Amino acid sequence: MRLPATLPAHLRRTVHRVGRVIIDGVLPPRCLTCGVAVDEPDALCAICWNAMTFFAAPCCAVCGLPFAHPMGEGAVCGACAGQKPHWDRARAVMRYDKHSRGLVLSLKHGDRTHLACSLGRWMRRAGSEILDGADLLVPVPLHWTRLFARRYNQAALLAHAIRAAGGPPVAPDWLVRRRRTPSQGRLGPLARSRNVRGAFTLRQGRNIAGKRLVIIDDVMTTGATAEECARVLRRAGAGWVGVLTLARAVRAGS
Ligand SMILES: [Zn+2]
Ligand SMILES: [Zn+2]
Repeated sequence: MRLPATLPAHLRRTVHRVGRVIIDGVLPPRCLTCGVAVDEPDALCAICWNAMTFFAAPCCAVCGLPFAHPMGEGAVCGACAGQKPHWDRARAVMRYDKHSRGLVLSLKHGDRTHLACSLGRWMRRAGSEILDGADLLVPVPLHWTRLFARRYNQAALLAHAIRAAGGPPVAPDWLVRRRRTPSQGRLGPLARSRNVRGAFTLRQGRNIAGKRLVIIDDVMTTGATAEECARVLRRAGAGWVGVLTLARAVRAGS
Protein backbone atom coordinates (compact mmCIF):
# COMPACT_ATOMS: atom_id res chain seq x y z
CA MET A 1 0.00 0.00 0.00
CA ARG A 2 1.42 3.41 -0.99
CA LEU A 3 0.77 6.18 1.51
CA PRO A 4 1.55 9.89 1.19
CA ALA A 5 5.00 10.62 2.58
CA THR A 6 3.58 13.47 4.64
CA LEU A 7 1.53 11.09 6.82
CA PRO A 8 2.96 10.80 10.38
CA ALA A 9 4.70 7.50 11.10
CA HIS A 10 2.19 6.28 13.72
CA LEU A 11 -0.70 6.94 11.32
CA ARG A 12 1.07 5.08 8.53
CA ARG A 13 1.51 2.11 10.84
CA THR A 14 -2.17 2.14 11.79
CA VAL A 15 -3.29 2.34 8.16
CA HIS A 16 -1.04 -0.61 7.31
CA ARG A 17 -2.37 -2.63 10.23
CA VAL A 18 -6.01 -1.95 9.34
CA GLY A 19 -5.30 -2.74 5.70
CA ARG A 20 -3.77 -6.04 6.78
CA VAL A 21 -6.80 -6.98 8.86
CA ILE A 22 -9.11 -6.14 5.98
CA ILE A 23 -7.07 -8.19 3.49
CA ASP A 24 -6.87 -11.15 5.86
CA GLY A 25 -10.61 -10.93 6.49
CA VAL A 26 -11.55 -10.78 2.82
CA LEU A 27 -9.14 -13.42 1.56
CA PRO A 28 -9.07 -16.55 3.72
CA PRO A 29 -5.77 -18.48 3.57
CA ARG A 30 -5.58 -21.01 0.75
CA CYS A 31 -4.02 -24.47 0.50
CA LEU A 32 -0.57 -24.07 -1.08
CA THR A 33 -1.32 -26.76 -3.64
CA CYS A 34 -5.01 -26.95 -4.53
CA GLY A 35 -6.22 -23.55 -3.34
CA VAL A 36 -9.13 -24.61 -1.09
CA ALA A 37 -9.66 -22.48 2.02
CA VAL A 38 -7.60 -23.59 5.03
CA ASP A 39 -7.41 -22.41 8.65
CA GLU A 40 -3.82 -21.17 8.64
CA PRO A 41 -1.84 -19.24 6.04
CA ASP A 42 0.89 -21.07 4.09
CA ALA A 43 -0.43 -24.55 4.85
CA LEU A 44 -1.72 -27.55 2.96
CA CYS A 45 -5.29 -28.83 3.24
CA ALA A 46 -5.74 -32.27 4.82
CA ILE A 47 -6.20 -34.01 1.46
CA CYS A 48 -3.03 -32.55 -0.09
CA TRP A 49 -1.06 -33.14 3.11
CA ASN A 50 -2.03 -36.82 3.17
CA ALA A 51 -1.19 -37.25 -0.51
CA MET A 52 2.43 -36.08 -0.02
CA THR A 53 5.10 -38.65 0.81
CA PHE A 54 7.31 -37.03 3.45
CA PHE A 55 10.66 -38.74 3.96
CA ALA A 56 11.33 -40.04 7.45
CA ALA A 57 13.46 -42.57 9.28
CA PRO A 58 14.39 -45.32 8.79
CA CYS A 59 16.48 -44.13 5.85
CA CYS A 60 19.89 -44.44 4.17
CA ALA A 61 22.46 -42.67 6.37
CA VAL A 62 24.08 -41.11 3.29
CA CYS A 63 21.31 -40.10 0.85
CA GLY A 64 18.23 -40.24 3.07
CA LEU A 65 16.36 -42.70 0.87
CA PRO A 66 13.65 -44.21 3.09
CA PHE A 67 13.86 -47.90 3.91
CA ALA A 68 10.73 -50.03 4.17
CA HIS A 69 12.06 -51.60 7.37
CA PRO A 70 14.54 -50.50 10.06
CA MET A 71 18.04 -51.49 8.87
CA GLY A 72 20.08 -50.46 11.90
CA GLU A 73 22.20 -47.41 12.70
CA GLY A 74 24.30 -46.12 9.79
CA ALA A 75 22.84 -48.47 7.16
CA VAL A 76 23.22 -47.27 3.55
CA CYS A 77 21.18 -48.02 0.43
CA GLY A 78 22.47 -50.08 -2.52
CA ALA A 79 23.25 -47.02 -4.66
CA CYS A 80 25.34 -45.33 -1.96
CA ALA A 81 27.12 -48.57 -1.12
CA GLY A 82 27.95 -49.03 -4.83
CA GLN A 83 29.39 -45.63 -5.68
CA LYS A 84 30.22 -42.96 -3.18
CA PRO A 85 28.89 -39.57 -4.27
CA HIS A 86 31.01 -36.39 -4.09
CA TRP A 87 28.73 -35.07 -1.34
CA ASP A 88 28.70 -36.47 2.16
CA ARG A 89 25.02 -36.45 2.98
CA ALA A 90 21.74 -35.62 1.28
CA ARG A 91 18.24 -35.10 2.64
CA ALA A 92 14.91 -34.08 1.11
CA VAL A 93 11.55 -33.13 2.55
CA MET A 94 9.33 -35.12 0.27
CA ARG A 95 9.12 -37.47 -2.64
CA TYR A 96 8.89 -35.82 -6.04
CA ASP A 97 5.72 -37.27 -7.53
CA LYS A 98 2.45 -36.17 -9.08
CA HIS A 99 1.26 -34.82 -5.72
CA SER A 100 4.28 -32.66 -4.91
CA ARG A 101 4.94 -31.61 -8.52
CA GLY A 102 2.41 -28.78 -8.35
CA LEU A 103 4.12 -27.32 -5.31
CA VAL A 104 7.54 -27.44 -6.95
CA LEU A 105 6.33 -26.04 -10.26
CA SER A 106 4.45 -23.16 -8.71
CA LEU A 107 7.61 -22.17 -6.87
CA LYS A 108 9.58 -22.33 -10.11
CA HIS A 109 7.19 -20.76 -12.57
CA GLY A 110 4.25 -19.39 -10.70
CA ASP A 111 5.82 -16.32 -9.14
CA ARG A 112 4.47 -17.56 -5.83
CA THR A 113 7.55 -16.58 -3.92
CA HIS A 114 5.66 -16.43 -0.60
CA LEU A 115 5.49 -20.22 -0.87
CA ALA A 116 9.22 -20.31 -0.22
CA CYS A 117 8.77 -19.24 3.42
CA SER A 118 6.75 -22.34 4.31
CA LEU A 119 8.89 -24.64 2.22
CA GLY A 120 12.03 -23.22 3.81
CA ARG A 121 10.65 -24.07 7.25
CA TRP A 122 9.95 -27.63 6.11
CA MET A 123 13.48 -27.92 4.71
CA ARG A 124 14.99 -26.54 7.91
CA ARG A 125 13.21 -29.25 9.87
CA ALA A 126 13.85 -32.15 7.47
CA GLY A 127 17.49 -31.13 7.02
CA SER A 128 18.39 -30.38 10.64
CA GLU A 129 20.95 -33.22 10.64
CA ILE A 130 22.97 -31.61 7.86
CA LEU A 131 22.23 -27.96 8.62
CA ASP A 132 23.41 -28.02 12.22
CA GLY A 133 27.06 -27.09 12.20
CA ALA A 134 27.09 -26.06 8.53
CA ASP A 135 28.91 -22.82 7.62
CA LEU A 136 27.06 -21.78 4.47
CA LEU A 137 24.13 -22.57 2.21
CA VAL A 138 25.05 -22.69 -1.46
CA PRO A 139 22.02 -22.55 -3.79
CA VAL A 140 22.35 -24.21 -7.20
CA PRO A 141 22.67 -21.25 -9.58
CA LEU A 142 20.68 -20.53 -12.72
CA HIS A 143 22.44 -19.28 -15.83
CA TRP A 144 22.05 -15.50 -15.97
CA THR A 145 19.88 -15.68 -19.09
CA ARG A 146 17.42 -17.91 -17.27
CA LEU A 147 17.58 -15.77 -14.16
CA PHE A 148 16.78 -12.78 -16.33
CA ALA A 149 13.72 -14.50 -17.80
CA ARG A 150 12.41 -15.84 -14.49
CA ARG A 151 13.51 -12.91 -12.32
CA TYR A 152 14.47 -15.13 -9.39
CA ASN A 153 16.28 -18.36 -8.66
CA GLN A 154 14.02 -20.76 -6.79
CA ALA A 155 17.00 -22.48 -5.12
CA ALA A 156 18.26 -19.15 -3.75
CA LEU A 157 14.76 -18.32 -2.59
CA LEU A 158 14.62 -21.59 -0.64
CA ALA A 159 18.10 -20.99 0.80
CA HIS A 160 17.06 -17.56 2.13
CA ALA A 161 13.89 -19.08 3.59
CA ILE A 162 15.95 -21.77 5.36
CA ARG A 163 18.19 -19.03 6.74
CA ALA A 164 15.10 -17.12 7.93
CA ALA A 165 13.93 -20.30 9.69
CA GLY A 166 17.17 -20.41 11.70
CA GLY A 167 19.54 -22.05 9.22
CA PRO A 168 23.13 -21.05 8.34
CA PRO A 169 23.95 -17.94 6.24
CA VAL A 170 23.50 -18.00 2.46
CA ALA A 171 26.29 -17.61 -0.09
CA PRO A 172 23.93 -16.74 -2.94
CA ASP A 173 26.44 -16.18 -5.73
CA TRP A 174 29.45 -18.25 -4.76
CA LEU A 175 28.61 -21.02 -7.17
CA VAL A 176 28.30 -19.79 -10.76
CA ARG A 177 26.69 -21.47 -13.76
CA ARG A 178 29.13 -20.65 -16.52
CA ARG A 179 27.20 -22.11 -19.42
CA ARG A 180 23.58 -22.54 -20.17
CA THR A 181 22.66 -26.22 -20.06
CA PRO A 182 19.78 -27.59 -22.14
CA SER A 183 16.69 -28.48 -20.10
CA GLN A 184 17.19 -31.79 -18.31
CA GLY A 185 13.51 -32.74 -18.53
CA ARG A 186 13.72 -35.61 -20.97
CA LEU A 187 17.29 -36.77 -20.37
CA GLY A 188 18.30 -40.05 -18.76
CA PRO A 189 20.82 -40.26 -15.88
CA LEU A 190 23.91 -40.58 -18.09
CA ALA A 191 22.91 -37.76 -20.44
CA ARG A 192 22.10 -35.54 -17.46
CA SER A 193 25.47 -36.06 -15.94
CA ARG A 194 27.17 -35.24 -19.30
CA ASN A 195 24.86 -32.23 -19.65
CA VAL A 196 26.02 -30.57 -16.42
CA ARG A 197 29.67 -31.60 -16.57
CA GLY A 198 31.79 -28.46 -16.27
CA ALA A 199 28.70 -26.22 -16.04
CA PHE A 200 29.57 -24.83 -12.59
CA THR A 201 32.49 -23.03 -11.08
CA LEU A 202 33.31 -21.29 -7.81
CA ARG A 203 33.31 -17.50 -8.06
CA GLN A 204 36.82 -16.13 -8.05
CA GLY A 205 38.15 -14.97 -4.72
CA ARG A 206 35.78 -17.06 -2.62
CA ASN A 207 37.55 -19.19 -0.06
CA ILE A 208 35.75 -22.35 1.02
CA ALA A 209 38.77 -24.28 2.30
CA GLY A 210 37.70 -26.60 5.10
CA LYS A 211 34.16 -25.18 5.22
CA ARG A 212 31.00 -27.21 5.75
CA LEU A 213 28.67 -26.35 2.86
CA VAL A 214 25.11 -27.36 2.06
CA ILE A 215 23.95 -27.29 -1.56
CA ILE A 216 20.32 -26.18 -1.83
CA ASP A 217 17.97 -27.01 -4.71
CA ASP A 218 14.26 -27.51 -5.27
CA VAL A 219 14.35 -31.01 -6.76
CA MET A 220 16.86 -33.81 -6.98
CA THR A 221 16.02 -36.09 -9.91
CA THR A 222 18.99 -38.21 -10.97
CA GLY A 223 21.30 -36.26 -8.68
CA ALA A 224 23.56 -35.19 -11.58
CA THR A 225 23.37 -31.46 -10.78
CA ALA A 226 24.05 -31.88 -7.05
CA GLU A 227 26.86 -34.30 -7.85
CA GLU A 228 28.54 -31.85 -10.23
CA CYS A 229 28.16 -28.93 -7.78
CA ALA A 230 29.62 -31.06 -4.99
CA ARG A 231 32.54 -32.07 -7.22
CA VAL A 232 33.36 -28.40 -7.85
CA LEU A 233 33.09 -27.47 -4.16
CA ARG A 234 35.21 -30.43 -3.11
CA ARG A 235 37.90 -29.60 -5.64
CA ALA A 236 37.95 -26.04 -4.28
CA GLY A 237 38.70 -27.44 -0.83
CA ALA A 238 35.33 -27.72 0.93
CA GLY A 239 35.70 -29.79 4.08
CA TRP A 240 32.24 -31.32 3.98
CA VAL A 241 29.36 -31.06 1.50
CA GLY A 242 25.69 -31.75 2.18
CA VAL A 243 22.71 -31.56 -0.18
CA LEU A 244 19.26 -30.44 0.91
CA THR A 245 16.37 -30.39 -1.55
CA LEU A 246 12.67 -29.84 -1.20
CA ALA A 247 11.76 -32.92 -3.22
CA ARG A 248 13.55 -35.94 -4.53
CA ALA A 249 12.59 -38.40 -7.24
CA VAL A 250 12.71 -42.03 -6.19
CA ARG A 251 12.93 -44.63 -8.92
CA ALA A 252 10.45 -47.47 -8.70
CA GLY A 253 12.10 -50.41 -6.97
CA SER A 254 14.79 -48.42 -5.17
ZN1 LIG B 1 -5.11 -28.83 -0.93
ZN1 LIG C 1 21.63 -43.90 -0.15
